[in-house]
Amino acid sequence: RMASPALLMRVVASAYSVAEKAATIVRNVMAAGDLGIVEKTGANDLQTKADRLVQMSICASLARKFPKATIIGEEELPNNEVNEELLEEGHCEEILKKACPPQFTGIKEEELVIWVDPLDGTKEYTEGLLDHVTVLIGIAYGGKAIAGVINQPYYNYEAGPDAVLGRTIWGVLGIGAFGFQLTEAPAGKHIIITTRSHSSSLVNDCISALNPDSVIRVGGAGNKIIQLIEGKASAYVFASPGCKKWDTCAPEAILHAVGGKITDIHGNSFQYNKEVKHMNSAGVLATLRNYDYYASRIPNTVKQSLVP
Ligand code: AMP
Ligand code: MG
Ligand code: MG
Repeated sequence: RMASPALLMRVVASAYSVAEKAATIVRNVMAAGDLGIVEKTGANDLQTKADRLVQMSICASLARKFPKATIIGEEELPNNEVNEELLEEGHCEEILKKACPPQFTGIKEEELVIWVDPLDGTKEYTEGLLDHVTVLIGIAYGGKAIAGVINQPYYNYEAGPDAVLGRTIWGVLGIGAFGFQLTEAPAGKHIIITTRSHSSSLVNDCISALNPDSVIRVGGAGNKIIQLIEGKASAYVFASPGCKKWDTCAPEAILHAVGGKITDIHGNSFQYNKEVKHMNSAGVLATLRNYDYYASRIPNTVKQSLVP
């Protein structure tokens, strides 16, 4: 008889199905047309009905299966009873078939911290830039991002009505990442990917100092990490506070699972224990390859402006 799958693999397998349910909610809210936009700290920090429903769906679904895990979601919501229709009970069988890396087989449920960004790229979602949107479920243990699921609800949406809409990318340190084609960025070119809606003079000065061949400005931390692992960009550079732990946890696990690196602008790794402050105050620097090239060229003036 096969031993029952390790806790970590069961959590990732469930998170996969929960993220697919989330993607359906994201598409349904947009199709219904009433986004219910609320400004949080201002006009560039929005919450929609999709952010709210998806957070309830993900957090309640995972909490029901893994009640002792700590689950931290982006949105502050009233503690209401969650509608049964929002709950997802399924899991991905293919993930359960993979062996858990030995360093993670002894993890206990109460040691897991799950960081949830129900909808990353909300500003772009409200502006119809639908392929920028992702759903992020990051799993941390011992302060490290060890596994993650990224769902892109509108992947392929420009390919026409016959194309399969949406995809789910998942990864675990020591296993790898799946659901996409790992691709190297063009050799010898410096293609920087950065924010579209949260720029500042510091953000732009930092990019200029890297002397890029081109700059891609798109929404979403999840979206930008996908573009790194698919070879569309060579470095994600964001010299600003604003990005939070739920933005980076799932992307970090997936990027690290395929040999990439993400840190703040000083080169400090991110911590994901439940007590950590949510804001990534010293920005983001991420690459699939050649991390040191970009890290060594971040100007000291930029570093001095960003206190971790
Ligand atoms: P962006 O690259 O602008 O899409 O940002 C990546 C993530 O960080 C998104 O979830 C943004 O909402 C968040 N973010 C970045 N800068 C800010 C900011 N100034 N205010 C609020 N959220 C921000
Ligand atoms: Mg986000
Ligand atoms: Mg969000």
